[in-house]
Amino acid sequence: MRLLEAILDANHRALAGDKDAGLRPDDYAASLPLIALTCIDPRLNPLLPEVLGIPEDRFIWLRNAGNVITDPMGTTMRSLALATAIKGGREIAIIGHTDCQVCKVTMLGLLERFKALGVDRQKLPEDIREFFGISASERQNVLRSTGLVRQSPLIGPAVPVHGLLVELQSGKLEWIVNGYEIRPAAVPGLKPSGPAQNPSPSAFGDFAAFNLGEMKFPSDAIGQGVEPILTELHKVEDALHQGGESAPQPESTPPPVPPPKRVVPIPPPLPSKSGRAKRP
Ligand SMILES: [Zn+2]
Repeated sequence: MRLLEAILDANHRALAGDKDAGLRPDDYAASLPLIALTCIDPRLNPLLPEVLGIPEDRFIWLRNAGNVITDPMGTTMRSLALATAIKGGREIAIIGHTDCQVCKVTMLGLLERFKALGVDRQKLPEDIREFFGISASERQNVLRSTGLVRQSPLIGPAVPVHGLLVELQSGKLEWIVNGYEIRPAAVPGLKPSGPAQNPSPSAFGDFAAFNLGEMKFPSDAIGQGVEPILTELHKVEDALHQGGESAPQPESTPPPVPPPKRVVPIPPPLPSKSGRAKRP
């Protein structure tokens, strides 16, 4: 199994009651550290990196409001890029979470909150939804951010870019985008040869109009197994456009394997009424 396959397997086993479920980090040394971009929500503090089963010293944690990427050359992308180039991060995971308030806030509600804080509407950008990178749902947000990171010329083709969603109450992980299957060689117009030379804003004009519906990849460029995932991605996108919360799930669960020895336990944290996480 590869790193994310092992993480998902251990996570799901732990939630199913397998007390021996866990990740053996030393077996995945070539895939660590893992770089994660998550939301700023404090409820994630007790969950990560524990639910991943990764030791803290092999976990590079970037956070912003809503785990958004708005620009493939923006500040968050620059940090992700340096996390790979300087800190040696081997894989990237965009990790959204359920009940994300950044996705739930309405534009009117957001403007009212800013007004209460003394922020002048006239000094805010016209389209504040686009400015703050606010998506219609947590799932759509993960899909969009993962797509933008994958397309960024700052991230080398050898670095898988995954999309995950963590359920706040149980700690259950859902693998939305399998970064092992979607590689930059398949992204139209992107050379899979690492950072671009002398990038200019005009060179990335297409990214400004990035649309998941246009995110098509030739399956022959990256081998088998990609087309079903892309089909599922489009199904999710279609479901989101229809306003449904019951979007179909990609088939990302890895095949069953013998349970690994428990090295890093992954107890599913459950928030109590007081708000503090407790262990079952
Ligand atoms: Zn959030």
